Amino acid sequence: ESLDKGLEKSKTSFLDKLGKAVAGKSKVDDDVLDNLEEVLVSSDVGVNTTLKVIDRIEARVARDKYLGTDELNAILREEIAALLSETNTGNAVDFELPESNVPYVIMVVGVNGVGKTTTIGKMAYQFKKAGKKVVLGAADTFRAAAIDQLQIWADRTEVPIVRQEMGSDPASVAFDTLQSAVTQNADVVIIDTAGRLHNKVNLMNELTKVKRVMQKVIPNAPHDVLLVLDGSTGQNAFEQAKQFTAATEVTSLAVTKLDGTAKGGVVIGISDQFQIPVKYIGVGEGMEDLQVFNKFEFVDSFFK
Ligand code: GDP
Repeated sequence: ESLDKGLEKSKTSFLDKLGKAVAGKSKVDDDVLDNLEEVLVSSDVGVNTTLKVIDRIEARVARDKYLGTDELNAILREEIAALLSETNTGNAVDFELPESNVPYVIMVVGVNGVGKTTTIGKMAYQFKKAGKKVVLGAADTFRAAAIDQLQIWADRTEVPIVRQEMGSDPASVAFDTLQSAVTQNADVVIIDTAGRLHNKVNLMNELTKVKRVMQKVIPNAPHDVLLVLDGSTGQNAFEQAKQFTAATEVTSLAVTKLDGTAKGGVVIGISDQFQIPVKYIGVGEGMEDLQVFNKFEFVDSFFK
């Protein structure tokens, strides 16, 4: 129910638009397809993924000769679920971790303001609730506020944090954090990193160095590079995904702020275009407002 609540505005809006796209039409024709294309693009599904969806529907129209607009909703659901299935294989329901990597190291990347710190705090809360021992690492040393914000979440969730002062070497913080996690027998380590995008080479160098130094403590760390994107920023989120995937190997996504916005389409487009699974979605500012992504629930909510 909370996912429904969180995505309420996006689904209303998408369905409204879809309704308008087929208004007065009983069959799917070129006009309807044009309208549908607009609806998908304006819902932030992204141009590439939109064209893919339109192509598939066109192919069905060509094959079946006739497609009623009353069937469009169901067919769209099928096609979108199919796209999400290519990357989001699991039907995850909780905050479990693979037992093969202990501690499990998650390096979190993303631009400032997208909800990175909040997402880390929510993850810490959920993992702890699931009985895991969590350690946080404040390797976004560029902004004092970033360290302070993470400290607030560490206090709130009663999870240990490793930090140094502002301006210190992020790789050194990451190293300390992993060492501390190993000593404490932690189950999961979540490392915050700086989110400056002003220079791609700098970003790449910094992330590469943080990774390399982590590997001195745990050879196959990080086990997950989680990119946090703000789901309410549409094209910006696509652009950030492009930049971060160019700078480092991103292995999963968290999409935030899917409450109170009409931008759930970003989840579909980015997951498809970059072939990266969405692991979490943020649906509010509170500790509990993080959900493990479930593609079936997502599609249901998007279309309800
Ligand atoms: P950071 O700079 O990326 O670390 O961003 P923060 O974690 O500080 O978050 C920026 C703002 O977005 C804060 O006001 C958060 O409360 C808010 N925020 C983060 N995630 C969500 C979410 O899922 N929904 C809503 N509504 N707000 C969020």
